[in-house]
Amino acid sequence: MPVKKGMGVWIFGFLTFLGVLHTFDAVLSFTLGGTNPLLKLSPFYGLIYNMFGEIGAASYFWASMIFTFVLFGMSCVIAFHDPIATFINRVISDAKSEENPVDLHLESGINVFEMINDSVTSNSILLNKVKESTENVRDSVNAVKIELKMLGAKLGKMETDLATPRKCPSCGKDVLPDFKLCPYCGEKLLFYVQISTVRQ
Ligand SMILES: [Zn+2]
Repeated sequence: MPVKKGMGVWIFGFLTFLGVLHTFDAVLSFTLGGTNPLLKLSPFYGLIYNMFGEIGAASYFWASMIFTFVLFGMSCVIAFHDPIATFINRVISDAKSEENPVDLHLESGINVFEMINDSVTSNSILLNKVKESTENVRDSVNAVKIELKMLGAKLGKMETDLATPRKCPSCGKDVLPDFKLCPYCGEKLLFYVQISTVRQ
């Protein structure tokens, strides 16, 4: 995390600053011949004095120099290159993205939408097929209607032909074509034979 990195940089920067101060103090004790006044302020001075005794100005200078450079190097490493932390962060973010239930919900929602979209598309394809077949049916129905009209016209013509009264060739009176003989004069009617042959 950047906060942890910033904290590390801040702490090591502060320690580097302390090292610089001690180096400066060592230079001062070198030149002025003092007795390490800043080192004596340090809380670890008692420990250092017990371990090494009185520290000379030269060794104090070199120790603070090395301390300063090591801390500065560590600060730079933390500030500019942090592979362990980035690796850990990557692992953590991967785990988070895998375990994030919101993402799973979102994915399942997207899947549902895709399924809905698929079914809508297939439905529209089906609808188009149905439309085409209904158009075919309509065409055939129209053809049947035209044929029916023609048949009806033929039938009407035949009916008018049949219904028109004929005249008896003998007496000249109107006689229905169904009659075999003329009801007025008893003459045999010829058109009855024609109609009966048509009807059979
Ligand atoms: Zn007649």
